Amino acid sequence: MLPTFKNPLMPAAFIGHGSPMNALLPHSDPYVQALTQLSANLPLPSAILVISAHWQTEGTFVLNSLTPKTIHDFYGFPEELHKVLYPAPGSPECALKINSLVNTEKIQFDNGKWGLDHGSWSILKHLYPQAEIPVLQLSLDTRKTPNEHYALAAQLKELRKMGVLILGSGNIVHNLRKISFTRNAQAFDWAFEFDLWTKTALENRDDRALTEDFHSSEAGRLSVPTLEHYLPLLYVLGASDENESVRFIYEELQNASISMRSFVVPGT
Ligand code: ZN
Repeated sequence: MLPTFKNPLMPAAFIGHGSPMNALLPHSDPYVQALTQLSANLPLPSAILVISAHWQTEGTFVLNSLTPKTIHDFYGFPEELHKVLYPAPGSPECALKINSLVNTEKIQFDNGKWGLDHGSWSILKHLYPQAEIPVLQLSLDTRKTPNEHYALAAQLKELRKMGVLILGSGNIVHNLRKISFTRNAQAFDWAFEFDLWTKTALENRDDRALTEDFHSSEAGRLSVPTLEHYLPLLYVLGASDENESVRFIYEELQNASISMRSFVVPGT
């Protein structure tokens, strides 16, 4: 049985994941420190539901495996990264719960085809290195509009009452065509501009602007050339109330065109 999680609700968080190599950063790195501190300040989750930029499907799927496999969904990275395993248990029970909570569509069970991709394990490795908490993922339906993603997320809010930690894993600014391979390369002006626009909109909890207006500037169109790294943000917003404030736990522009901005709701 998933426990009833009383007051306060389990927070939800959006984490910028960036390069898969971030999974190998040492404990002393400020990004790793920020993630470590976040998990230390959260109540122990009953399960973790990750919405990762790296699982896109037609229709929405949920992992329902008891033992989700670690997927190394990248090429051209060192062998060391291919050896990383995140052997967390799954939670078929939570998958069933999600299936019953969503009434606007049928959430489909994955039945072992996918697993934990690097959008999940590269951050979970720092947040919960023991891999002791059950983890599942929800896919991004490529046919949905941003508003439809937000509306789906609103139906997942109930999970927070059961101690489920909803984690969006993507990047607010993510343009691989403009990327520099140097982590601390000077970021593009448009990357700064859009990251700041998003920061302000998050501080104001202007969910409508974040859902509908992110492509209204040139900076936004360059920062979000494709939707998949931005959409996990909408799941964290949709699964929370607009009166829940946002607290930024990390901000950095990496590789000139990637924002690592990460936040938790509620912020207090
Ligand atoms: Zn990614």
